[in-house]
Amino acid sequence: MSALDGSLDELRRSLAGAVVGPADAEYDAARRCFNALVDRRPAVIARCADAGDVATAFDFARAHGLDVAVRGGGHNPAGHCVSDGGLVIDLSSMRTVAVDGEARIARADGGSTWLDFDAATQAFGLVTPGGVVGSTGVCGLTLGGGIGHLTAQYGLTCDDLVGAEIVTPDGAVIRAAQDENAELLWGLRGAGGNFGVVTRMEFRLHPLERVVGGVLTYGGNQVREALRSFRDVAAGSPRDLSCQAVLAADESLAPTLIVVPCSTSSNGDSEELRELRSVPGLVDDGVRARTFLDQQLVIESAYGENRHYWKGHFVRELPDELLDQLLESIVALGRPPGGILIESLHGAPKDADASTGVVGFRNAAFNVSAVATWQDADLDEQFIDWARATAAVIEPWSFSGGGYVNYMQADEPIERVRAAFGAEAFERLQVLKQRYDPNNVLRRNQNIRPLGESESLP
Ligand SMILES: Cc1cc2nc3c(=O)[nH]c(=O)nc-3n(C[C@H](O)[C@H](O)[C@H](O)COP(=O)(O)OP(=O)(O)OC[C@H]3O[C@@H](n4cnc5c(N)ncnc54)[C@H](O)[C@@H]3O)c2cc1C
Repeated sequence: MSALDGSLDELRRSLAGAVVGPADAEYDAARRCFNALVDRRPAVIARCADAGDVATAFDFARAHGLDVAVRGGGHNPAGHCVSDGGLVIDLSSMRTVAVDGEARIARADGGSTWLDFDAATQAFGLVTPGGVVGSTGVCGLTLGGGIGHLTAQYGLTCDDLVGAEIVTPDGAVIRAAQDENAELLWGLRGAGGNFGVVTRMEFRLHPLERVVGGVLTYGGNQVREALRSFRDVAAGSPRDLSCQAVLAADESLAPTLIVVPCSTSSNGDSEELRELRSVPGLVDDGVRARTFLDQQLVIESAYGENRHYWKGHFVRELPDELLDQLLESIVALGRPPGGILIESLHGAPKDADASTGVVGFRNAAFNVSAVATWQDADLDEQFIDWARATAAVIEPWSFSGGGYVNYMQADEPIERVRAAFGAEAFERLQVLKQRYDPNNVLRRNQNIRPLGESESLP
């Protein structure tokens, strides 16, 4: 029996949503994150139904001295959405996405996933550039920037964020928009969940229903050439083609390259796609005309089944020398390590007015991440070492020294978080943090400490 048991009943009576405690049947499923490496046992999970519930959950945490974690889609590889002995503000019941087709605006509740979002907006033939896996949280992803199948066409997800409602740790409900708390909106475009719990986000939408996309798989001796072609096509391609790739290795340690293009070219058969298809070593061509909803189902990733450790860098360029080193890294573990994800940032991210959001990586060429993925806990150290060693190989080409906050593990030093934004923007964020969360209640994230708080605090 937990010390909180009596108080949990009190919380149950005061929330419109549900409360899940360690004695409840759904506790184990509710505390599970995407990353099976993270296995934590919170004291209580508050499944909030609205902004009022979020404020009540903050009050309860304060009254009982509980550490607070915030859960949207549960995908952050650092596992920030759950903490041992703490209170989880779980937004997974708040998933309504309302679309105003005429104004081309979508309002997504704090726990909506991309599947919720795309289903609602595609009913109007509209999109926002989001994430590539349907179960990822809309707000969590947007708070870190957002890279996906439509990045080259429409920019980062946070570039389309036009407003938000947040509940701060003292229970205040605040709106952020261009004409109201504009500085907060700036911080929400890239600086993670540092300032409050976002209960609603408002996005600009674009008309789009069909794309040409899917997966191209390369194998055999030509992977080296395919990797170079992917780099050249992505770097030089027009705005109507977004392109990502994953370098992997099979059980026999033969490298494979998976390229995931998404074209919105009007003729459906762009020169760049033809170029990718003509590379020798193409063993499977799954690219075809499809609905955007279908494209959003092309990449799947099992929730809570695999252990993950991710580490990478935004890079200025992707020279042959680095590509060759990545080919060595992918077999260096002596078994399939997971993959190396390469996301191109060409096109629209460069168009946006950089001063409207804090995100600091839009001018990088690519985001290159070692994504270690395994199941056996005895191999934790080996896989984590592989990811770190691979990131070290990428580091000399780093754009800013900072990583992608959406992919960072919890052990990243504060310097990496600061470098992700740049020193000046980081200080501006600390002022915002001081205003909205002066006691650093929201510290289970890529943490920005309030101005003046020592960086050596836990
Ligand atoms: C399989 C997979 C696919 C991914 N694909 C992409 C991709 O295509 N593009 C991309 O850019 N990133 C991608 N990511 C990274 C992902 O965007 C980030 O990890 C993001 O933090 C996940 O958000 P979440 O709500 O799902 O996660 P959670 O773990 O629930 O939340 C992560 C953190 O975000 C904050 N947060 C979440 N929701 C809120 C809210 N409503 N209010 C305040 N704070 C909040 C909290 O600090 C929370 O701890 C992917 C990750 C995985 C595991």
